[in-house]
Amino acid sequence: RAHLDRIAAVDADIHAFLHVSDHALEVAADIDARRAAGDDLHELAGVPLAIKDVLVTTDMPSTSGSRILDGYLSPYDATVVARSRAAGLVPLGKTNMDEFAMGSSTEHSAYGPTHNPWDLDRIPGGSGGGSAAAVAAFEAPLALGSDTGGSIRQPAHVTGTVGLKPTYGGVSRFGAIALASSLDQVGPVTRTVLDAGLLHDVIGGHDPHDSTSLADDWPSFADAAREGARGDVLKGLRVGVIRELPDSGFQSGVSESFRAALARMEAQGAEIVEISAPHFEYGVAAYYLILPAEASSNLAKFDSVRFGLRVDVPGGTVEDVMAATREAGFGDEVKRRIILGTYALSAGYYDAYYGSAQKVRTLIQQDFDQAFAQVDVIATPTAPTTAFRLGEKIDDPMQMYLNDVATIPANLAGVPGISLPSGLSVDDGLPVGIQFLAPARQDARLYRVGAALE
Ligand code: GLN
Repeated sequence: RAHLDRIAAVDADIHAFLHVSDHALEVAADIDARRAAGDDLHELAGVPLAIKDVLVTTDMPSTSGSRILDGYLSPYDATVVARSRAAGLVPLGKTNMDEFAMGSSTEHSAYGPTHNPWDLDRIPGGSGGGSAAAVAAFEAPLALGSDTGGSIRQPAHVTGTVGLKPTYGGVSRFGAIALASSLDQVGPVTRTVLDAGLLHDVIGGHDPHDSTSLADDWPSFADAAREGARGDVLKGLRVGVIRELPDSGFQSGVSESFRAALARMEAQGAEIVEISAPHFEYGVAAYYLILPAEASSNLAKFDSVRFGLRVDVPGGTVEDVMAATREAGFGDEVKRRIILGTYALSAGYYDAYYGSAQKVRTLIQQDFDQAFAQVDVIATPTAPTTAFRLGEKIDDPMQMYLNDVATIPANLAGVPGISLPSGLSVDDGLPVGIQFLAPARQDARLYRVGAALE
């Protein structure tokens, strides 16, 4: 009830939610009854959970921020939602996002932008700005997000929250409306590293419904966070700092907060090692070919027949109906990427664009391999600037894309990444995040290191 009251009090200004559950209190009462009856409940049972609208739910609409899915009700729950319900978490509502998770500011939502709780004139990050803002504004203690190029981590950075993108394959995407299937991962958005670990333990692990899901036995990430908070895990930890990254347009307050965090780690016994990742600078270019290519294919299913919106064209052909529906149902950024992706995949251009981007992807993976032969984790500022003003970059896609320079490489390589608060910027007093990256499957290391620094 406290969270529903908080939503009622502040969400008109923040607009973190697209839909608030009308039966959360009943679900919570049921958990209470089970607890009273002596049921052995999960430690998160009864805790409210905000769910990014990219994840399908049977009891609330799932739009992925798009008009084309206005009011869409899924016949099944995403695996992460089903697992959360099974653990007794209480779904509170669905959170706002850039349409189909394309964006870094949540301004591309078809339902209007979300505002950053720290300063309502500023963006909450994207695409998962709704989940991050809900957690930052105390509308929800925990949230689910998805991260294809930074959509969990960059919103965490600009809202002073914690966000983790798991190893590719670590968390099921069954029921996550696909953006770019070789990059998408689902993960937690929370206020503490331990909270993220607790939620990750609930949602993670093998799912036969997702063919990319890893069959690994994962350690408890909550235990990893508790271990990190307790002890001297930073002692002797080798932290890689990328030589090529700090110069690429980072705000002074962001760089300063980053350096201060490194100094704190050094004081606790970490060793800061300069590493080279010469191909990271091509990450944005490669990503913005691979992502549109995969997205143009994934979004072909919105054909006016199988899902959501249909715009009738009297006397028109199937193609006319399809074109009119997609014209009305998709926003500008989605159309831009469909056109880009279709072009990059077209016969004659495939090798020059998609093929080259895939080669760059391999070079970035090799940069990671070489780096992780020398260091335990890589540290970067999560994004180049603090929260920018609503409207500031909306007409300049290139500026918007450059936000993702530090987050994209992890998606291209499939490695896990966490963003946690490193302090407030000396420039403008807004939150700054630090990102840690670890080798694939070493998500627990990020929880240990993150909790130690927190
Ligand atoms: N900003 C990135 C993009 O626009 C991030 C997307 C994401 O992670 N879903 O593609």
